Amino acid sequence: MADVTLEGVTKVFDGGTTALDNVSLDVADGEFMVLLGPSGCGKSTLLRIVAGLDDPTRGTVYLDGEPTDGLAPRDRGIAMVFQDYALYPHMNVGDNIGFPLKMAGIEPEERERRTSDAASALGIADILGRRTQRLSGGQRQRVAMGRAIVREPDLFLMDEPLSNLDAGQRAELRNEIGGLAQQLGVTVIYVTHDQTEALTMADRVAILRRGVLQDVGTPAAVYNRPATIYVASFLGNPRICLAVAKVDAHEGSHIELHIGEQTLSLPWAHSRTRILSRYDNERIIVGIRAEALTPVTPGTASNELAGKVRTLEHHGHETLAFLDIRASAIAPDEVGTTKAEQVLGNRWRRPFGSWASRWSRNGGRSD
Ligand code: ATP
Repeated sequence: MADVTLEGVTKVFDGGTTALDNVSLDVADGEFMVLLGPSGCGKSTLLRIVAGLDDPTRGTVYLDGEPTDGLAPRDRGIAMVFQDYALYPHMNVGDNIGFPLKMAGIEPEERERRTSDAASALGIADILGRRTQRLSGGQRQRVAMGRAIVREPDLFLMDEPLSNLDAGQRAELRNEIGGLAQQLGVTVIYVTHDQTEALTMADRVAILRRGVLQDVGTPAAVYNRPATIYVASFLGNPRICLAVAKVDAHEGSHIELHIGEQTLSLPWAHSRTRILSRYDNERIIVGIRAEALTPVTPGTASNELAGKVRTLEHHGHETLAFLDIRASAIAPDEVGTTKAEQVLGNRWRRPFGSWASRWSRNGGRSD
């Protein structure tokens, strides 16, 4: 087992790209930490620095409390799994899995036992004699994982290991990797840009944007209580709707929220709407998650938001309706790292959004 600490890690590449900007992060012993973010946000760079394949420009990585400066990758007790699982084509599955043990000079008998244990854990014990060219993508990725497991590492680093697989195989392996990590009790740092992978597999998720760590927390925490507007907009499918609104607080009675031409009337006494009273007469950004809305017959609720259906998207188990509510929409990039102020829980199913954030704090307009 291993714990990992990053302290103020910055990476500036030759040419001036800042891939990581003062990132500090703790990964506990046995934890499954997912690094999530869009392409180019610095996920792989962070992983390579932990592995010792790249050096940070500033900052330190600690493994089990010891600084890793100058420690060679092979001495870090780490195994890596990449998206392009390079297998040796001239070897069969068993030899591919056992190869690191052979290189380490382990006796054939022990090699065979550990190879067979790893293959059983991954459900590929019956194909040990097969050539790797004749395997499916899912099987190939299992072999690559077997080759990593067999070394009995303390820390697994996985860089988009499922991205070359089809949706079915991804879902299956997603599940298996999580179970396997738990069974082996290893620490995992797992990189992906796929939020479903992140939210389903992680003990905690670390969200990066342009090299800056935005938020770290359990999947439920980052989804329900995002630290920034960017995190709120990055997580969730369909995307959260961000709209400009104006607050009109009628003390002791109700709070009006003017969104475009429409007005929502929210109860004053409700613990989750009261925070809006702090922003009386101010412009804020309201975030509305689709699951927070309930269809109602027009004119039957005070907190109704009317919208014109623009498109319908059928997903089999659900249908998404994209509505025009005639409000000023906000592009997440405009507001970026503005701190999110308040989150209203998922179970509070009312036609009012998930959280509100102060518009003026971003240097934006105020009324
Ligand atoms: P992806 O999901 O596309 O793999 P990522 O989040 O893993 O992206 P990185 O590969 O870590 O992102 O790259 C972060 C930034 O650093 C990018 O702007 C990238 O172009 C840049 N970068 C990465 N490696 C190098 C390098 N060796 N030299 C110069 N710039 C680099």
